[in-house]
Amino acid sequence: MTGFAVPAGFEDRVQRDEPMSRHTSWHVGGPADLWFVPRDVEDLSAFLRALPGSVPVTWVGLGSNLLVREGGIRGAVICPHGALNSLQRLDGTRVRAEAGVPCARIGRQVVKWGLGPAEFFAGIPGTLGGALAMNAGAWGGETWPRVLEVETIDRVGTVRRRAPSEYQVGYRSVVPPAPGEWFTAATLGFEPQPGASTDSIRRLLEQRLASQPIGEWSCGSVFTNPPGDHAARLIEAAGLKGYRVGDAAVSTKHANFIINQGHASATDLEAVIRHVQDTVEREHGVRLRPEVRVLGEPA
Ligand SMILES: Cc1cc2nc3c(=O)[nH]c(=O)nc-3n(C[C@H](O)[C@H](O)[C@H](O)COP(=O)(O)OP(=O)(O)OC[C@H]3O[C@@H](n4cnc5c(N)ncnc54)[C@H](O)[C@@H]3O)c2cc1C
Repeated sequence: MTGFAVPAGFEDRVQRDEPMSRHTSWHVGGPADLWFVPRDVEDLSAFLRALPGSVPVTWVGLGSNLLVREGGIRGAVICPHGALNSLQRLDGTRVRAEAGVPCARIGRQVVKWGLGPAEFFAGIPGTLGGALAMNAGAWGGETWPRVLEVETIDRVGTVRRRAPSEYQVGYRSVVPPAPGEWFTAATLGFEPQPGASTDSIRRLLEQRLASQPIGEWSCGSVFTNPPGDHAARLIEAAGLKGYRVGDAAVSTKHANFIINQGHASATDLEAVIRHVQDTVEREHGVRLRPEVRVLGEPA
């Protein structure tokens, strides 16, 4: 049981010791001391103002890029999914989406509005907030080239609007202008795309199904691609497809995926990650960089 006090007025809406395995696509992770889903930005701001400054705050979206360790997450975990959920067309080419909106919904809706390029959003099984934090991308498209403005909130509940030029954005990497600020929404810019149809999204997803273990418990690609190469190629060439620790196994379908086959622990997954890094480094002289974010305390 956590020693962190729940802020007054929020007692009924904060879960204690919430298993993070319920909120990660790898289905692993110990408890979050406090778990909070805000109703809207004002509610979120009130919560953050009321939360004592000593309580650490972590944000998660759909947990599709997270490895949470068995010891769980100390402090408060905030999840905007299912809450900060508005998606609206502002004018001909601008769209505003809140951080909890699933990227797949953005991809489909923007294409239905006859705008693009947005198909890539449909390949990202996370929220817009996670995609902004990761500069997520698929099929040649990336999140940040579409960003016109972001809305953020900080640890004491202050909301801001920021321009993309304030962030250092790279391949699966985003450095914010100030630490301790999280995304609540973004305005995205697209171009008219006559003839755009969700059929193209369907075709891309079908292609992906043929080459990736979609539907199994994973966090997508575990490692970023090193310059000029593919992590999957290096892992496969090192003979690591099928390598396993407990129920954590390198996928035999796509070598950059590590699958939880049922009862893997975070420790098992981390052991596979380290073994892959060490073996690829020994065989190819390249240290693979994890794309997945590791959170929480060890067992
Ligand atoms: C089957 C599968 C396929 C995938 N394919 C792709 C792909 O093609 N391309 C790709 O880029 N990724 C892919 N991923 C990985 C993942 O979907 C993306 O990284 C996604 O952007 C993560 O979003 P999320 O909402 O799940 O974030 P989470 O995994 O919950 O969090 C990821 C990081 O973002 C931070 N974060 C979350 N929300 C916010 C917020 N509102 N403000 C600030 N920080 C926040 C978290 O603290 C954490 O550091 C795939 C994953 C799976 C399971």
